[in-house]
Amino acid sequence: MSDPKSAEGAVLALNAGSSSLKYQLLHPDTEDVLADGIAERIGEHDSSITHEQGGESVTEVRALPDHRAAVESAMAFFADRGTDLATVGLRAVGHRVVHGGRIFHQPTLVTTEVISEIRRISTLAPLHNPANLIGIEAVRALLPEVPSVAVFDTAFFHSLPDAAATYAIDRGVASMHAIRRYGFHGTSHEFVSGQVAEFLGRPVGEVNQIVLHLGNGASASAIAGGRPVDTSMGMTPLEGLVMGTRSGDIDPGIVMHLNRVAKLGVDQIDTLLNKQSGLKGLCGENDFRTITEKIEAGDAGARKAYDVYIHRLRRYIGAYMIELGRVDAITFTAGVGENAAGVRADALANLQNYGIVIDDERNALRGRYARRISADESTIDVLVVPTNEELAIARQSAEVVAQL
Ligand code: ADP
Repeated sequence: MSDPKSAEGAVLALNAGSSSLKYQLLHPDTEDVLADGIAERIGEHDSSITHEQGGESVTEVRALPDHRAAVESAMAFFADRGTDLATVGLRAVGHRVVHGGRIFHQPTLVTTEVISEIRRISTLAPLHNPANLIGIEAVRALLPEVPSVAVFDTAFFHSLPDAAATYAIDRGVASMHAIRRYGFHGTSHEFVSGQVAEFLGRPVGEVNQIVLHLGNGASASAIAGGRPVDTSMGMTPLEGLVMGTRSGDIDPGIVMHLNRVAKLGVDQIDTLLNKQSGLKGLCGENDFRTITEKIEAGDAGARKAYDVYIHRLRRYIGAYMIELGRVDAITFTAGVGENAAGVRADALANLQNYGIVIDDERNALRGRYARRISADESTIDVLVVPTNEELAIARQSAEVVAQL
């Protein structure tokens, strides 16, 4: 960016994962992206950071022991390119926070009390909220004059109907320990469902839809007239679809069995189900590109992993069609959903009796733009819509700051 003034009024959107930190500097109104970057493998021996600004991309392998170091490295990249984020006139820093518990239903201005509350509910998301908090605190220390806004992954789903949000366990225990289905990827499901309505040229309040967010983490949602009626992730992001490294739904009895018979402790089971399961657990790979190559080379393990993935996905699609009654659109988004045409075709194969027909040529097109992949005779529109969580975070943060 040659003119640092062009960052005036921009928002820095930060998305801290358990071992990564993605960031983007953008104007929420014009959607103009000034810079973005990603720090990966934070806390591991081969951590690296990539920063892209003004058409130039730099990747450096460097020690990033924690998320604070990642935030500091990102800030240093900006400073080296003449963008001092402390003085450039940022409107806000928007932080993705994974778990909002029972408290946070809206994007929220970060204060000391808000930080304490997010820390208090970290027991609900021990892999995520602590990383989010370190990001928030590092930014507040480095940019004390810029308002920080927390945007919660659970917020969109806070209005899930009781029947969908409730686990059939002892009511007293559930209430005491805040056990219910919260849902995640809410920023993406809300953003994409809005884009779908725009694409169809209808008010979101009129559209019944299923959104399939298939990335490394994956979740499905059923949305009736803009309000979520069900979603596949639960109290934690572990429930639901088969994911890159997470198991998704399993019989809870397996956890007891692993403890009693395999003698695994709770942290080992946590790691097994969150990091060593899903596609990776089934075939050793969690990247769909590699899995597709392996299937083409005749690898039986990769084939089985793929089949389990598709089976689970179809199960959720079927359930949500019944829950919604009338479905106007089914939409694929995120890394796998936007790119893997085979997954889209297999997820919705042989459903012509239910009004779903994929057009193979449309489905084979590539690109980061919203498009219809269903055939003209399909009564349900099947779409691919790129998600943009950073833009959604930036917009929501700007709205909060505008009300100050
Ligand atoms: P997350 O934000 O959950 O880390 P993304 O939405 O970026 O994940 O999705 C990442 C996943 O998308 C990768 O692990 C990979 O499996 C899949 N993916 C990305 N590009 C392609 C592609 N061209 N074909 C198939 N899968 C892809």
